[in-house]
Amino acid sequence: MSTLTSPVWHPFTQHGLGDPIPLISHAKDAKLHAADGQSWIDAISSWWVTTHGHAHPRIMAAIRAQTEKLDQLIFAGWTHEPAESLAAELIRITPDPLTRVFFSDSGSTSVEVALKMALGYWYNIGEPRSRILVLEHSYHGDTIGTMSVGERGVYNRAWQPLLFDVDTIPFPYEGHEQATLDALEAACAAKPAAFIVEPLILGAGGMLIYPAWVLAEMRAICARHGVLFIADEVMTGWGRTGTRFACDQAGVIPDIACLSKGLTGGALPLAVTLCIEPIFEAHFSTDRAKTFYHSSSYTANPIACAAANANLEICRDEPVQQRIDTLADAQAAHLSLLSQDPRVANPRRLGTIAALDIVVPDAGYLSNLAPRLIAFYRDHGVLLRPLGNTLYVMPPYCITADELAQVWDAIAASLAKVADASV
Ligand SMILES: *Cc1c(COP(=O)(O)O)cnc(C)c1O
Repeated sequence: MSTLTSPVWHPFTQHGLGDPIPLISHAKDAKLHAADGQSWIDAISSWWVTTHGHAHPRIMAAIRAQTEKLDQLIFAGWTHEPAESLAAELIRITPDPLTRVFFSDSGSTSVEVALKMALGYWYNIGEPRSRILVLEHSYHGDTIGTMSVGERGVYNRAWQPLLFDVDTIPFPYEGHEQATLDALEAACAAKPAAFIVEPLILGAGGMLIYPAWVLAEMRAICARHGVLFIADEVMTGWGRTGTRFACDQAGVIPDIACLSKGLTGGALPLAVTLCIEPIFEAHFSTDRAKTFYHSSSYTANPIACAAANANLEICRDEPVQQRIDTLADAQAAHLSLLSQDPRVANPRRLGTIAALDIVVPDAGYLSNLAPRLIAFYRDHGVLLRPLGNTLYVMPPYCITADELAQVWDAIAASLAKVADASV
């Protein structure tokens, strides 16, 4: 029986374990603060969304200014300046073939939109296709459709009966890349509608990194077979992987791209799905039946769009790339120091993201290692959230050298605890 006094049911939280839930009153840069003066370094960017840091003054100012003008507007058949300028700028900074911007409000919805666009395209050109190809260990969200294209497991077992069938391409582990490419080639021959991938790094699947040339090859195979290529850049976008988008590192131009998380600098929920002109063209008609029937109430919310415009200005005017490069170098140095430790396996890094696997004494110990580690870090003033025995650090770009050192010190201390099974 629950003895909770709060009615709040938290996401991905087992309330039955009774872990304390810190109450945060304010945040600035890389720090979260409680009213009683306690603070934590936000080493996972509040679940991968905060890029420049919490409460960036220009984003906060843009939000304040927008609240004086227009709070919300129906976006079906109406428009507003913040959305128009944001869409124009997104088209300007992405490769030329991406010409259209569809707004929604979360990473999951941007992927749902991508899948609906892909099927809508094939349906409207009179060649209906519905199979989706996915990469093993992928994560694309928690709605029924996005769970369908993601890894099946404990996180979605109860809903399996509702999930649609997909064809899964094996993850391109080092030395097995050709098997991935061969499987994709074979699957493409069966004329699926689309292939959806997280470019260069699978986030929730365990920070699994694969090389740019494999991404480029996968894209080329889809192009050869006329299979739509969907890049889910929800986590990888906005500099996380060292470049603005992960696809940039592979010279890959997707047919459909999903962006969210850092789109507003992490301040407000907003997402976009970009697509190539033929997908828009397939829906462009005097025939109402060809309309793209998708909307959510807060599509292109003006305040969220204003925050995103401020994010893009920051990327344009401030030395963001320099901060990213500095953070990437610092992460590399910390990771390399720790990788001498026998309890560390598979140290890996892509841009600002550093990850490692903790060598655990046995499987039983592994089963609830992550919650115990989360508590350990929380007690050491650091917000980290391991995925099983995979530990990763993904901080906002403004994190100071001292703060980052504190994060890695906490990790080193936790490894010592894991060694004598005392965490
Ligand atoms: C987080 C994430 C999503 C889902 O985004 P939400 O905003 O949580 O719905 C989709 N794809 C990837 C790659 C993600 O990391």
